[in-house]
Amino acid sequence: MEYALVITNGHIATPDGVIDADLAIQDEKIAAIGHNLAAHSDQVLDAKGQMVLPGMVDSHVHINEPGRSDWEDYHTGSQALAAGGTTTMLVMPLNALPARTTEKEFKRQAKIAENKSYVDYGLYGGLVPGNVDEIQKMADAGAMGFKTFMATTGSDIPGDFKNVDDYQLFRGMQAIAQTGLPILVHAENAAITDGLAAEKIAAGKTDIKDYVDSRPPFVEFEAVRRAIYFAKQTNVRLHFVHLSTPESVAEVTKAREAGLQVTCETCPHYLILDRDQFEKIGPLAKCSPALRDPAIVKGLWKKLFNGEIDTIGSDHSPAPMSMKRSQTNNIFDIWGGISGCQNNVDLFYDEAVTKRGLPITEFVKVTAQRPAELFGLANKGRLQVGYDADITLLDLNQSYTIKADDLYYKNKISAYEGFKVNDRVTTTLLRGHVIYRLDHGFIDKPSGHLLTKKFSGVLQR
Ligand SMILES: [Zn+2]
Repeated sequence: MEYALVITNGHIATPDGVIDADLAIQDEKIAAIGHNLAAHSDQVLDAKGQMVLPGMVDSHVHINEPGRSDWEDYHTGSQALAAGGTTTMLVMPLNALPARTTEKEFKRQAKIAENKSYVDYGLYGGLVPGNVDEIQKMADAGAMGFKTFMATTGSDIPGDFKNVDDYQLFRGMQAIAQTGLPILVHAENAAITDGLAAEKIAAGKTDIKDYVDSRPPFVEFEAVRRAIYFAKQTNVRLHFVHLSTPESVAEVTKAREAGLQVTCETCPHYLILDRDQFEKIGPLAKCSPALRDPAIVKGLWKKLFNGEIDTIGSDHSPAPMSMKRSQTNNIFDIWGGISGCQNNVDLFYDEAVTKRGLPITEFVKVTAQRPAELFGLANKGRLQVGYDADITLLDLNQSYTIKADDLYYKNKISAYEGFKVNDRVTTTLLRGHVIYRLDHGFIDKPSGHLLTKKFSGVLQR
């Protein structure tokens, strides 16, 4: 028999459009896409009526191991991703303890992750005050890029991640430019957000509304412009994480049109949720930047439809329930971060493609193809011959309501609990092997590989 496995009867989301055909797998790669391939394999997976999607490449995940494994570890986080149709995760350098900001810690944490992840994974390093000398060394150790904060991270715990000032950002960008890897920036003006928050707290104004108002859209916009200006001076590849306003995205587009290597991400929650829902859902929907006015959300959807947003990342940022519950009725004391990575594919497909008509080619571009390209994952992100057979089957004829019990997170909490989803991930394959089935759970031991491919060229649209 020629093929290890053939997926039949599915609607295959190739980069050029959806085709009804069979997909054959050999040696962990897609070997053929065509008709009547089933006769050439002993193993046939019937995907009748289902969408066959490239597994999502989630380039924005927080795993808290080591140091805070009770928040999320590689095992639970990767299970949630795999069950949700994601096959590659790129892991942020913060919220584990210590943060991954030195070569030594990078190598140690790469070891810690071994044999624990159900999905393939890459690790970012961090740019923090005083670690410019570690940048090249972390790049040599396999970092996929470098995350940094212009906003205040707000932790005084030793070893925890710290934000940079403009000087440190500038010097860091120079060092990162030498590696050819991208810098990933959380863009919000630290002085203004800190000042506005302090005013609110001093006045006893500590409701959800006050938190949202302490992080107005212009603080993001200003930081985006400043970072782009520094990127122009340093020639670094700049990727903005979680942009939350159409104005910020427009700046990225403008910079790109001016010839700079600037790209951007948004997250499902900035598209699916807004500040009104934040009031209803409560602290589980606290994140930064904060959720926006419905009119801004509408504008952000428009940017997605225009093709101005490069990637969708979950910014899965888990915490124990005790940190998401208000003891004092003070929203400023609550952990900022949304658990959501298990619903990257199903909920976002429902909202973007089914309800709003985003073309499926655009869906696969922002969830798989583009993130793989931006981070140099040459074999990932496309259902195309020669690519890794990282595949998720999405059944558009099933619907379900998201419940805590369905979640694989270590802390079974989600901003999306109670949401009805009009499709469902039924099967996930990693490099040709079925790793998860809805009716069975996880098939085998974790088999995710560490990805260390370095960025290998300039990517323009
Ligand atoms: Zn994040």
